[in-house]
Amino acid sequence: MVKFLDLERVTNSFEPEISEVVNRVVASGWYLQGRENEEFERKYSDYIGVSHTVGCANGLDALTLILRAYKELGIMRDGDEIIVPANTYIASILAISENGLVPVLVEPDIETLQIDPEKIENCITNKTKALMIVHLYGKCAYTDEIWKICKRYDLKLIEDNAQAHGCIFENRRTGSLGDAAGHSFYPGKNLGTLGDGGAVTTNDDILAKTVRRLANYGSDRKYVFDSLGRNSRLDEIQAAVLSLKLKRLDCDNARRRAIAKRYGIEISNPLIRIPNGIKRVGKDNVYHLYPVLCEQRDRLQEYLKQEGVQTLIHYPIPPHQQKCYAKKGILSIPAPLLISETIHKQELSLPIYPVMTEQEVSYVVSKINSFK
Ligand SMILES: *Cc1c(COP(=O)(O)O)cnc(C)c1O
Repeated sequence: MVKFLDLERVTNSFEPEISEVVNRVVASGWYLQGRENEEFERKYSDYIGVSHTVGCANGLDALTLILRAYKELGIMRDGDEIIVPANTYIASILAISENGLVPVLVEPDIETLQIDPEKIENCITNKTKALMIVHLYGKCAYTDEIWKICKRYDLKLIEDNAQAHGCIFENRRTGSLGDAAGHSFYPGKNLGTLGDGGAVTTNDDILAKTVRRLANYGSDRKYVFDSLGRNSRLDEIQAAVLSLKLKRLDCDNARRRAIAKRYGIEISNPLIRIPNGIKRVGKDNVYHLYPVLCEQRDRLQEYLKQEGVQTLIHYPIPPHQQKCYAKKGILSIPAPLLISETIHKQELSLPIYPVMTEQEVSYVVSKINSFK
C-alpha cells in the first residue's frame, strides 16, 4: 500500500539524530524559552531571509498574532477587511475572524489554484487593510502584480506560509516577500516537528516586538503587562527538532519536485487534469501537496483506495459553505465563488513526500493511468 504520508518513515529517516536531539533537551532540564528557541529563530531567519522569527505554538496562532499585533499598533480596527483566497484551509480565515476582522473571499485561478491577482482589485473597499496570500499546496502565490496592488492601496501583505517552507520567488523565499508571514510546523508540513509548532517571520522590528509581547501574556519584562496577551510558545524540544530538520529541507523539497516532475510527465489519463501551474515544476513550488482535478473525483478516490493508494481531498467543503460561517455578515463574498467550488468538488491530492520510493511513484502513476 502507498500511504498518503508515511510520517513514521519520515521520522525514522532522521534517526539517530532526532532521538539524540530530543534526549539532549530532556536531559537539559530547560523546556521553554531557552537556547533551542533562540537558535532555531536565528537559523530560520537566516534561511527565510528576514530579520526576525518569533516562535509560537502553531500556524493558526502565528497568523492570529500578526493580525492582533496590527490591531494593537492601531493599524487595523474591528470590522476592517482582509482579502484572502476562497479556497484556502480554514485556518487562514479563522485567524481573521478571531480578531474581529472580516475575511473577504476572492477566487483562485484554476491553473495555479492560487488567488487570482486580476480579481483582487475589485474587492478592495475603504475598509480593506491587508491582503493575505496563501502559498497553497506549496506553490508560490506571490506575483509582482500583487505587490503593486498592495502599494497602490496601502495594504499590508501577509503570507500564510504554512504549506510552503523553502519555496522561492526570484531568489527570495516565501515568508520574506510581504510585511509578515505565518508558518506552521504541524508534523505533516514540509518542515514539520513532533507535535505543534509555528512562527512569525518579518523584517518589521516593531511588529516582531509586538508579536513577541502578545505571545508572552502581553509582557516584555517579567511581571509587567502592557497588552492583553495570550500564551503561545514553541517548546524547546520542538525547536531543537526543527533546527535539525531545517538542514535537510532544501534536499527534501528537491525530492518532492522530482516526484512532481514524474507525475507531470507520466500521468496521461485524459480523465485527470493537472493544472498548468502545478505541472510546470520550478523553485516556486515545494509540492507540499500534489493536487489533480477530476470530474469523477470521488470515484477516482475510491478506485485508488481499492488499489492500495491513499489520497486526500484538500478540501472537501469550502470555507464559505461551512456551518461556522453560516452567520450573516461575518464573511464578505463580493462575487460568486464558482472556481473555488469546482476545485473543492474535483481536487484530489496524490501521495508526495521525500521518502517515497521510485517504485511507489511508479505504482501510483500506473494505477491512475488505468482508471476508466
Ligand atoms: C496547516 C495550515 C495552517 C494552520 O497551521 P496549524 O499549525 O495546524 O495551526 C494555516 N494555514 C494553512 C494554509 C495550513 O495548511
